[in-house]
Amino acid sequence: MTATTPLSGLLPEAERFISQPAVPAAAAHHDGPWIPTHDPSTGREITQVAACSPQEVDAAVRAAHDAFTVSWGRMSPVARERVLHRLADLIEEHALELAQYDALESGKPVAFVQAIDIGLAVEQFRYYAGWPTKITGTVVPVADPSAHVYTTRRPYGVVAAITPWNFPLCQAAIKIAPALAAGNTVVLKPSELTSLSTLRLAELALEAGLPEGTLSVITGPGSGAGTALVTHALVPAISFTGSEAVGRHLASQAGAALKHISLELGGKNPNVIFADADIQAAASAAAATAFFYTGQVCFAGSRLLVQENVLDEVLQVVHDHAAALVVGPGLSADSTMGPLVSSAHRDKVRRYVDEAARAGADITTGGHDIGGELAGGFFFEPTVVLNPTDDSPVASEEVFGPVLVVQTFSDEDELLRRANATPYGLTAGLWTRDVGRAHALADRLEAGTVWVNTYGDFSASAPWGGAKASGLGRDCGPDGLNKYLETKSVWVAG
Ligand code: NAD
Repeated sequence: MTATTPLSGLLPEAERFISQPAVPAAAAHHDGPWIPTHDPSTGREITQVAACSPQEVDAAVRAAHDAFTVSWGRMSPVARERVLHRLADLIEEHALELAQYDALESGKPVAFVQAIDIGLAVEQFRYYAGWPTKITGTVVPVADPSAHVYTTRRPYGVVAAITPWNFPLCQAAIKIAPALAAGNTVVLKPSELTSLSTLRLAELALEAGLPEGTLSVITGPGSGAGTALVTHALVPAISFTGSEAVGRHLASQAGAALKHISLELGGKNPNVIFADADIQAAASAAAATAFFYTGQVCFAGSRLLVQENVLDEVLQVVHDHAAALVVGPGLSADSTMGPLVSSAHRDKVRRYVDEAARAGADITTGGHDIGGELAGGFFFEPTVVLNPTDDSPVASEEVFGPVLVVQTFSDEDELLRRANATPYGLTAGLWTRDVGRAHALADRLEAGTVWVNTYGDFSASAPWGGAKASGLGRDCGPDGLNKYLETKSVWVAG
């Protein structure tokens, strides 16, 4: 593991956007309170972001309701498609600027953010831009031959979207693109840690031709602006990505108010290597997914289950990968792993590792904060915890750090029992050359996505979401569109 030093190099337009307090259009006259945001690579304050008041949230929701009633909601499907394509073009044109906001606020390496997050955001808008002209109903045969009965698929109205800090622009796109394609309008609250790219996206959306009010971004903490948004009477649907705890809270609020809700929550994802796999490929991918974005990824393969006779070979590859990581600031072009998002989060990650060590697990690499010239930021070593017990916190909870738990198994039955013995069910990985075994286990693993001889692939067209405590509903693909539509039956007497 080597360390890099910070690079300056913000684009002039990015400097413009952060050199003054960040205020959403919906709160143009905001005069406080403010939330400071910090660069986790240095600990320094970046800017102040408006903590929107309930009145400002109300104004945004009312504007979205008006847009649904008179502009976006009345626009032809072809016109909606054109605007979504234009927005995709603008995101591509501003890819580096948008990536710089996310790299600065989240600490993720800027080159990765530009290639992966911004690329995925563009893909969402392109994929869903193809849908408005394909949303159809059916003609329904009924007993009365003189009646003509048909269905239409109708948008809900104003969708409240709430996003986490770890994929700011990408998650905003995953929510906005299908909701708009379906004909809804959107009020989105990004994480208070990472608001800038989403605020800029709202500017680009206006430039793309989205009617005023169709997409509003409101900023502030979940307990303030977030609560005002999800409980607003003019919001019939909530789309949330974030932690299990907040997801459960919102689900109870939505249940009480009878609002539609979809939840994309956390994971503790088993990644399984059988002895007959291509061990080099499997172990390299296992290390890559564990340390990608410092492990702060819902689908991180954070629990590696290895058939016992190939453990040494796998561990060697994982250790080599960890040693080769270039740990440094998000804005450095050379970094391949950034910091954790905050000091408090780093304390939490360190506690998991220390507790595992005290309980007898072997920390085979890493386990400490990184100091030296990176001491101002919240860096933590890529870490491997060998053979903690299944019920230990490090093996069963979402650590959300660069901490790979490695455990061994002997046969398929043991593997399946232990892999499924988690409250979560977001993703799983399987590495084997036995195709029959791969299909059988893919069917029985309790996860929304199973990757076979690969890990982490993602597409706007492939449904994405979790089983069990990892969530309700699916993003992406036709499922991701349908959750923003409801069916209406129309009976015409003969
Ligand atoms: P978080 O739950 O703390 O916050 C998510 C969002 O919810 C933020 O915008 C926050 O301000 C808001 N919020 C908090 N309390 C609220 C309330 N009472 N009412 C309304 N909004 C509220 O999560 P986080 O730390 O930002 O993100 C990390 C989590 O997100 C991890 O658990 C990760 O696994 C999960 N995640 C899941 C996916 C997925 O696709 N399943 C993708 C990315 C992240």
